[in-house]
Amino acid sequence: MPTYKAPVKDTLFVLNEVLGFDRYNNLPGFADASPDVLEAILDEAAKLAENVMQPLNRVGDMLGCVRQDDASVTTPKGFREAFDQYREGGWMGLAVPAEFGGQGLPYCVHTAVGEYMVAANMALMMYPGLTQGAIAAIVEHGSEAQKQAYLPKMVEGAWTGTMNLTEPHCGTDLGLLRTKAVPQADGSYKISGQKIFISAGEHDMAENIIHLVLARIEGAPQGVKGISLFIVPKFILDADGKPGKRNGVACGSIEEKMGIHGNSTCVMNYDEATGWLIGGENAGLKAMFVMMNEARLGVGLQGLGVGDAAYQSAVAYARERLQGRSLSGPKAADKPADPIVVHPDIRRSLMTMKAFNEAGRAFALWTALRSDIAHRSGDDKDREAADDMLGLMTPIVKGVLTDKGFEHAVMAQQVFGGHGYIEEHGMSQFVRDARIAMIYEGANGIQALDLVGRKLAMNGGRAIQAFFKEVGSFCEENRGDEKLASFTKALKKGLNDLQAATMWLMQNAVAKPDNAGAASTDYLHLFGLVALGYMWGQMVKAAEAKLAAGAEDAAFYQTKLVTGRFFMERVMPETAMRLARISTGADTMMALDAEAF
Ligand SMILES: Cc1cc2nc3c(=O)[nH]c(=O)nc-3n(C[C@H](O)[C@H](O)[C@H](O)COP(=O)(O)OP(=O)(O)OC[C@H]3O[C@@H](n4cnc5c(N)ncnc54)[C@H](O)[C@@H]3O)c2cc1C
Repeated sequence: MPTYKAPVKDTLFVLNEVLGFDRYNNLPGFADASPDVLEAILDEAAKLAENVMQPLNRVGDMLGCVRQDDASVTTPKGFREAFDQYREGGWMGLAVPAEFGGQGLPYCVHTAVGEYMVAANMALMMYPGLTQGAIAAIVEHGSEAQKQAYLPKMVEGAWTGTMNLTEPHCGTDLGLLRTKAVPQADGSYKISGQKIFISAGEHDMAENIIHLVLARIEGAPQGVKGISLFIVPKFILDADGKPGKRNGVACGSIEEKMGIHGNSTCVMNYDEATGWLIGGENAGLKAMFVMMNEARLGVGLQGLGVGDAAYQSAVAYARERLQGRSLSGPKAADKPADPIVVHPDIRRSLMTMKAFNEAGRAFALWTALRSDIAHRSGDDKDREAADDMLGLMTPIVKGVLTDKGFEHAVMAQQVFGGHGYIEEHGMSQFVRDARIAMIYEGANGIQALDLVGRKLAMNGGRAIQAFFKEVGSFCEENRGDEKLASFTKALKKGLNDLQAATMWLMQNAVAKPDNAGAASTDYLHLFGLVALGYMWGQMVKAAEAKLAAGAEDAAFYQTKLVTGRFFMERVMPETAMRLARISTGADTMMALDAEAF
C-alpha cells in the first residue's frame, strides 16, 4: 500500500532559498507568512495530507461515487469527514482576500499546500479545487451583490463550486455550445440544456453547489462571441441568503470512468434553471478563463503531485525488493539477492523522476509567485511583467507537468514489475488517476496550440523575449563560476535550441499554419525543458551558496547538486531532438489522405 510524505523541506528550500520569499514582504499577505509561520503552515498541511487525505485515496478508488434514485450522489465513505477537516482548518480560503473571509496569504503558499493535498488524494481534492476556481471567477467578475451572496460560504467551504462548459457535441470547440439562456423580467435567466463530464457536479458534502455555467443568450451571435457565463445555484438563495428552493438542475447520471473514482463526474441537466449573469453579456469566455487559468495551474499540480506520490512508492519498493546482483558485485551479501535499487536501469527511472519532480515543484512555485506579483504588486511595470510570464507559463505548467506526471506514474509502476499491475499496490491507481490530467482543462494538444498560436505572439512577443533575457542573463552572470559552469553551459545550449525553434516558427508558421500545429507539442516540451533547466540552475546556485556558508545539512544540498547534474546530463539533451523534429515541418504529417490511415 502506498504511503506519502509531503516534501516540506524541499518546498521550504525552493521558497526561502531559491525564490527568496522574504524579498516580497512588501506585497500584501507575504509579511503574514514569516519563515516560522510558513513552516508551521506547511507542517500542518503535511499532516492533513498524510494522515487524513492519503489513507482515503484507495478507499475512494474502490468505492467510487454512487448516484441514488433521487438524483443525489453519495461520495465514498470518509470523504465528507475529511472535507470537514479541510474546511474547518481554513484551507479553502488560504489565498482568498480577507474581505471575502479568506486569509489573504500568498498564492504560492496555497500552491505548495495544494501539491501535498492532490498528491495524497487527487479525487477528493477536486471538490475544493473546483470551488477555488469558481471563487476566483466570482472575485474577478462577480457584481458586489454576487460576491456578498456567494463568496463567504464558498470560502468557508460550506458551499462548493463547479465549472460547466462541456456538452455532448462540444468540448474543445466551445463555439458549438447550445445551452440556452432566456432573459426574465426580473433580470434573471432561465437556463436549459445538457452539460456532461461535470466534476463534482452533485455530491453529499456541501449545503449548496454553485454551478458556473456557459450558455448562449437567445439571439446572441454564433460561435464563441455569443457565450455568456451564469451563476446557477443548486438551491436558490432565499431572502436571508440561505439555500432555499431547489433549482431546475439535476444530475442525470455519473460516468463510469478510468480513474479518480472518488470524484463524481456528472451529466447535469438544466431544465429552465434560474441563473444570473456574471460578467457581461457575451463576455462569458473571458470570465470563465479566470477559472480555467486557475484550474490549469491546479491541474499541473495534479500531474506533479500524483507523479511524486508514485515516485515515493517506487523508491520504497526499490529499497526492499530483492532481485539479482549488482553489476559491480553484491551489495547485500548477507541476503539472497541485492535490492533492485542497485541496478542502473532502476536508478535511471528513479533519478529521472526525482530530477523532474524537484524542478517541477520549483517551476510551479516560481509561476505561482508570478501570479502573486501580477495580482498584488503596487508597481504597474512589475505587475505587467509578471502577468505576461504567468500567461506564457500557464499552458506549460499544465501540459508539461501532466504529461510527465502520467509518464512518471507509469515509470514508477514499472519499478514494481508485475506487482505494479496488481491493484493492491496502488500503482495502477496512480496511472489511472494521472491520465485524466492530460485531458481535461483543455487537452494537452490544445495547451500546446495555446502556447504556439496565442501566447508567443501576445503583446508583440513581450513575454517570451523577457524569458529569453532572464535565462540568458542567468547563464551569462554565472558563466565564470566554475562550480556552475557545466550547468550554465547545458542550460545555454537548451536556450539556444528554444530560440532556434522560436525563430523557425516565426519564419515558417505564418504562411503555413500547419507548421505551427505540427510543431506545437514538441515546442511545449522543449520550452518545459528549458524552464525546468532554469529551475535547476537556480537550485544548484542556492545549494552551492549554502554549502559554501557551511550549511549544517550538507547532504541535502549535495544531493541537489547531483540531481541537478543528472538533469543537465540526461534530460536536457532532449532539447536538440525536439528542435530537430520541429524543423522538419508539417509535410510528412499532413501528406497522407485520411483514408490512408
Ligand atoms: C473525468 C473528466 C472530468 C471533466 N471535468 C469537466 C468539468 O468539470 N467541466 C467541464 O466543463 N468539462 C469537464 N471535462 C471535459 C473535458 O474538459 C473535455 O473532455 C476536454 O476539454 C476535451 O473535450 P472533448 O472530450 O470533447 O474532446 P474533443 O474536443 O472532441 O477533442 C478530441 C481530441 O482532438 C483534439 N483537438 C480538438 N480540437 C483540436 C484542434 N483545433 N486542433 C488540434 N487538436 C484538436 C483534442 O486535443 C483531443 O485530443 C471533464 C472530462 C473528464 C473525462
